[in-house]
Amino acid sequence: RCVVTPASSSPAVAAAATEVPEKMKAWAYDEYGDAGVLKLDEAVSVPPVGEDQVLVRVEAAALNPVDSKRRMGKFKATDSPLPTVPGYDMAGVVVKVGSQVKSLKEGDEVYGHISEKVLEGPKQYGSLAEYTAVEEKLVAVKPKNIDFAQAAGLPLAIETAHEGLERAGFSAGKSILVLGGAGGVGSLVIQMAKQVFGASKVAATASTPKLELLKSLGADVAIDYTKENFEELPEKYDVVFDAVGQGDKAVKVVNEGGSVVVLTGAVAPPGFRFVVTSDGSVLTKLNPYLESGKVKPIVDPKGPFPFSQVVEAFSYLETGRATGKVVISPI
Ligand code: NDP
Repeated sequence: RCVVTPASSSPAVAAAATEVPEKMKAWAYDEYGDAGVLKLDEAVSVPPVGEDQVLVRVEAAALNPVDSKRRMGKFKATDSPLPTVPGYDMAGVVVKVGSQVKSLKEGDEVYGHISEKVLEGPKQYGSLAEYTAVEEKLVAVKPKNIDFAQAAGLPLAIETAHEGLERAGFSAGKSILVLGGAGGVGSLVIQMAKQVFGASKVAATASTPKLELLKSLGADVAIDYTKENFEELPEKYDVVFDAVGQGDKAVKVVNEGGSVVVLTGAVAPPGFRFVVTSDGSVLTKLNPYLESGKVKPIVDPKGPFPFSQVVEAFSYLETGRATGKVVISPI
C-alpha cells in the first residue's frame, strides 16, 4: 500500500502505483451478532464500480452506533444480504471513476457516508475495507486542513446534525438544548447550531468529565446529567435535539411552538424522529466551515484505532461513552 514512488520515476511507474488489486482486506460478518462475529478477511473481491460511482482507496473509516445495530440484526428485513462488510463513513483517495462521473477524478481526496439510506438496502461492501465503491453524489472533496482520520469521522454525524437542525426549523436567534452533546452527533450539533445556524443560546448535556468539552464546542450552558435532571430545570428551548433517546423528557422542555427532534427511541408530538439521508452536497456546503476551523471534527482520544483493532473499537463504541468519533486509521 505505501508505495514510495521516487521523484525521478516515469509516469508509467507512477500509474502502476495506483493499480487496483482484485482482492482486498476487509472486515466482514456472515451472521448477525455481537462484535465477535466480525472477521478480518484477507481476500474479499474489490467491489465493481457502477457508472455513477467512484472506487475509493479507504485511508480511514469511522464507526457509528447504527453499524452495531445493523450487525445485531435490528434491520434484518431491509438490510443487504450477508455476508456484510460494515461501515458507512470513510475518507480516502479516488482510484477509479465510473463512466457517468462528472466532478471527480483519480487522485481526488474525498470523504462521505456511502449508503444513501442507512437502514434500507445499505451497501453490502462498506467502508471497513481497503476499497469501497460509492456514488459520486454521496461524497465530497475532503477539506484541505483536516487529515483522513478527522474527515472519516464527519460524514454520517454531520449530515445527521445538519438534517436534524433543518427539519427542526432551527434558525438564527433561536435557543437549543442538545441531549448527548459529547457524542459523535451531539458534538457537531452544538458547533453547527452556534457557528452555522446562529443560535442565541446552546445548552447541552454530558457527564461530569465532559462538561469542559461542551463549553469548548460552543455550549453556553453545560448540564451535568449525573447531578441534574434537565427536565426539572426552569429553562425551556426553541429546539431540543435528542441524540440519547430521551424523547419523553425532551418534550417537557420545549417552548410552545418549538420542535423536538430525536434520533433514537420513542417520542410523542411535537417531537419527531427521522433517519438521515446521505448527501455529499451537504458536506460540500459545510466545507467552508470546516476549512475555516469554525466547525471541528472531534476524534475520540482512545483512537484512531488501527485496522487490526476494529473489534476493540466496536466494543469501545458500544460502551456508549465515546467522545466524538471512534475512528479507524490507517487502513
Ligand atoms: P455516540 O456513541 O457518539 O454517543 C456517545 C455519547 O453519548 C457519549 O459521549 C456519552 O457521554 C453520551 N451519553 C450517553 N448517555 C447520555 C445521557 N444520558 N445524557 C447525555 N449524554 C449521554 O452516539 P452518536 O452520537 O453517534 O449517536 C447517538 C444516537 O443517535 C445513537 O443511538 C445512534 O444510533 C443514533 N443516530 C441516529 C441517526 C438517525 O438518522 N436517526 C443518525 C445518527 C445517529 P457520557 O459519557 O458523558 O455519558
